[in-house]
Amino acid sequence: MILVLRKTVTEQEISAVCDGLKELNLTGQVVRNERGAVISIYEDVSSLPGHLFSRLPGVDKVLRLSPQLSMVTDERLGPITLNSGVVIGGNRAVVIAGPCSVEGRSALLQSARKVREAGADMLRGGAYKPRTSPYDFQGLGEDGLKILQEAREETGLAVISEVMSPDQIEVATKHIDVLQVGARNMYNYDLLKEIGRSGHPVLLKRALSATINEWLSAAEYILLQGNSKVILCERGIRTFETLTRNTLDLSAVAAVKGLTALPVIVDPSHATGRPDLVRPLSRAAIACGADGLIIEVHDDPSSALSDGEQAIASGELQSIIEDVRAMENLFPKVEKAQPSFQSESFAPSEKLTVSTGCCNS
Ligand code: PEP
Ligand code: MN
Repeated sequence: MILVLRKTVTEQEISAVCDGLKELNLTGQVVRNERGAVISIYEDVSSLPGHLFSRLPGVDKVLRLSPQLSMVTDERLGPITLNSGVVIGGNRAVVIAGPCSVEGRSALLQSARKVREAGADMLRGGAYKPRTSPYDFQGLGEDGLKILQEAREETGLAVISEVMSPDQIEVATKHIDVLQVGARNMYNYDLLKEIGRSGHPVLLKRALSATINEWLSAAEYILLQGNSKVILCERGIRTFETLTRNTLDLSAVAAVKGLTALPVIVDPSHATGRPDLVRPLSRAAIACGADGLIIEVHDDPSSALSDGEQAIASGELQSIIEDVRAMENLFPKVEKAQPSFQSESFAPSEKLTVSTGCCNS
C-alpha cells in the first residue's frame, strides 16, 4: 500500500503517520522526491479498511497496489500530448467525435468539418470493424485510414481508429494519431504487446465483462513494453439490464482515477446504445472526473453502416460540448504537474526509489 501525502505535509504529520502505523504493527518507508512524499507499506494490509490510513494526518490518497500493476500505478504517468498539440488527461476534457465507421471519403470529410465546427478536439472513425455478424459491414481497411489522414490534414483534428490485429499496427501508425483497442480485443495480448512496442498513443477500451483489475492489467501489458501513452476508456459493461445496450460503470471511472495517473475517458454511445442518453451521461462522466469523451456522431444516423441507432445527429454535438465545458467549470481539475518522463524514457526498471527514511527507524 502507498500513502500519498499532501503537498503541504509537515514533518510532524509524517511522524504522526509513522506513529499511527506502529500502532497497527506496520512498517512504513518514507519516500521523497522533488514532487512530494509518499509512505510505502510492504506488509499485507488487505484485511484492513482504507479509512484507518486515509484518516492519518497529512494523508491525501491511499493506493492499494497489486505488484502486478506496478507500471500502471506509477505516479509519474500523466497527461499525453499528441503531435497535433491535443493534451489528453490535462485540465481540459477532450472530446472525440465522429461516425462509428469510415463509410466513404466525402461522408467522412463532411463529418470531420461538422465535428470540428461543433468544437470537438479529435475525430473518430473505424476502418477495421469488429462486427458481431460476419455479414455486416466490415470497414474499409487501409483505404479508411487514408481517408482519416486526409480529414486530419484538412481539419487539423487528430484522428483515432481501431486496430484488431498486430499486423494492422504498422500501417495504422502511418495514418492516424491514436490507435484504439476495442472492447472485444482488450484480452488480445499479442495486440497489446505489439502496440506497446510501437510506442504509439493508444485508447484502451474496457472489455464487456472485464473487472477493473483485468482492464488495468491490459494497460500494464502495453506499459511494460515501454509505451506510456495509454488512455483508458470505460465504454459500459454487460449486465442484466436490457433497456440500455450496456451499463456505464462510472464508479469504475472514479475508482480508476484514484489508482492510476493514466487519462480515463468515457464512451457514452457504446455504453448506452441510445442517443438520448449521450448528453446526461456525458455530463455525469465529466462530473465524476473523466478526462474526456468519445461520442458517435452521424450526419444521417438512419443510413449509417454501423451503430446508427446510437449515434447522435451532428447538430447535437455542439450543445453537448457546451454542457461538457459547463460541467468542467463547475468541477475544475486540480492543476496536474507535468509527468517527469515521456514514453522514450519509460522503462520497467525506472521506479521511485528515492528513500530517505523509515518510519520505524
Ligand atoms: C467502436 O468504437 O465503434 C467500438 C466497436 O467500440 P467497442 O469496442 O467499445 O464496442
Ligand atoms: Mn461503434
